[in-house]
Amino acid sequence: MFQNKLAALEGAEFCVATSSGMSAILACVMGVCSAGDHVVASRSIFGTSVQLFSNILKRWGLETTFVSLTDPEAWKAAVKPNTKLFFVETPSNPLTEICDIGLLAEIAHASGALLAVDNCFCSPALQKPLALGADIVVHSATKYIDGQGRCLGGAVLGRKDILEPVYGFLRTAGPTMSAFNAWVFLKGLETLHVRMEAHARNAQALAEWLEQQPRVARVYYPGLASHPQHALAQRQQKSGGAIVSFDVKGGKDAAWHLIDATKLISITANLAMPRALSLIQPLPRIAVSARKPVLKQA
Ligand SMILES: *Cc1c(COP(=O)(O)O)cnc(C)c1O
Repeated sequence: MFQNKLAALEGAEFCVATSSGMSAILACVMGVCSAGDHVVASRSIFGTSVQLFSNILKRWGLETTFVSLTDPEAWKAAVKPNTKLFFVETPSNPLTEICDIGLLAEIAHASGALLAVDNCFCSPALQKPLALGADIVVHSATKYIDGQGRCLGGAVLGRKDILEPVYGFLRTAGPTMSAFNAWVFLKGLETLHVRMEAHARNAQALAEWLEQQPRVARVYYPGLASHPQHALAQRQQKSGGAIVSFDVKGGKDAAWHLIDATKLISITANLAMPRALSLIQPLPRIAVSARKPVLKQA
């Protein structure tokens, strides 16, 4: 049911669920590529995806060239006769760079390669890469699809003929989604659209506010007119999305000082946590200090 529902949302013929986002990316590559093949990937992808391509898959004879997400000429130039896959994330983490999915799909197809898009940051609520020309979508369901920090999971979506070997890999090697997690993610999908709209609305307000702060050097958010690919974002995404990043004046020391001094913002390794909403709409909230939870009026 989770696979069918996510496939309907992404406009995909087929979906296979995986145990995590990383196993979705691994299964995608295992299904599409073999030893001796070549991948072109964006330099701005999830750090662990970089590790997967440049350390682990390299040992198994898969070569990867990393190029700038926003430079189509660099993608053309990186193609080799054995290129099988283009791999991108748009918007990227953390600088929210955006690529033209349709244009990159054309370049991939002209080279006989497939385009895979990690659609984790927008989710199908805000962006549908398959409709724009991509061949494969991968997800970390751990993020917005769950949206509540309860489960790890992932998915690979696309045409049935492309996904057949991906499914075969998962079934044989084992990083499949547990039935219980699939049930939790199904519940997550029911609120995905309203959550993404709220995330994006809050992100837009926060980005606009940050841009006015004298001690902020630069804000990265596709919903801002100052974003270098603002027009492309408006065409390709339903909104600016939910991720905002910014530079503070004063370099690393000032950045660490800011991080250590925040009271409302949690330092976390995950995203899509509902707690971030309280920043814009103050509510009584639980602040976790050291080990003892304390109720604080924000
Ligand atoms: C977190 C993340 C992943 C990996 O997902 P896990 O479910 O943590 O394995 C992949 N891509 C992006 C963009 C992510 O943010």
